Amino acid sequence: QAGPNDLQTKADRLVQMSICASLARKFPKLTIIGEEELPTDDVTEDLIEDGHCEEILKKPCPAQYTGIKEEELVIWVDPLDGTKEYTEGLLDHVTVLIGIAYGGKAIAGVINQPYYNYEAGANAVLGRTIWGVLGMGAFGFQLTEAPAGKHIIVTTRSHSSALVNECITALNPDHVIRVGGAGNKIIQLIEGKASAYVFASPGCKKWDTCAPEAILHAVGGKITDICGNSFQYNKEVKHMNSAGVLATLRNYDYYASRIPNTVKESLVP
Ligand code: AMP
Ligand code: MG
Ligand code: MG
Repeated sequence: QAGPNDLQTKADRLVQMSICASLARKFPKLTIIGEEELPTDDVTEDLIEDGHCEEILKKPCPAQYTGIKEEELVIWVDPLDGTKEYTEGLLDHVTVLIGIAYGGKAIAGVINQPYYNYEAGANAVLGRTIWGVLGMGAFGFQLTEAPAGKHIIVTTRSHSSALVNECITALNPDHVIRVGGAGNKIIQLIEGKASAYVFASPGCKKWDTCAPEAILHAVGGKITDICGNSFQYNKEVKHMNSAGVLATLRNYDYYASRIPNTVKESLVP
């Protein structure tokens, strides 16, 4: 445990070791940045994954990315997003996030939801993988619009503050959904459960937003900090998204224009 607001479980450590060691073995020139600080040398063989998905590799790579070199990519890994909710048994809040950045931009991402359908009965398929590439689209889910004319805000469940709540109140929402995980909240947007993800607080990091950003942008959505600045994902960048998160599938400008200046001034990028 890294602190009461920042838990680390055995699952976080094992998943990160598996993802990072497997990627590094297959693509040794990648820069891989994972949330957990872990030794990378003592990974056991059973954690190494060397398979690949034929279905995905069959899709043509967008022309603007065919010339990219392995060493130009930065991979942002959150092995378990929504750890707080995981420890409380809210298993479908949990996602595994792998984001791919090139030239400082999030260009591709994977959101795996290992416990998707966990309450849907024995016949339901457990778990799913949502992935996307800019210029190609996003797959593994059904893109759905949020109810028209309703302002449904999704926000943090376990990292609220006076400012977080002040910002939401100012947007005068019809409904507020409080769930764990940045990955999970982007799923709420692309599946039409919520119209905006609003988090006026530091706390969220680059590994929380990289994969979700690529997927959201691949389907025409938009994510920035609360002040409207886009996120950068080059390897030198500060990990913390100090000025929070504002994301929508549609109508970004509606929400951005209603964030109070007092809230923006309280959050320094
Ligand atoms: P949440 O919406 O609270 O699930 O947060 C989304 C992501 O940002 C999760 O990975 C959280 O662990 C992280 N996060 C948000 N706020 C904080 C905070 N105050 N301290 C530590 N981590 C945070
Ligand atoms: Mg996280
Ligand atoms: Mg995590």
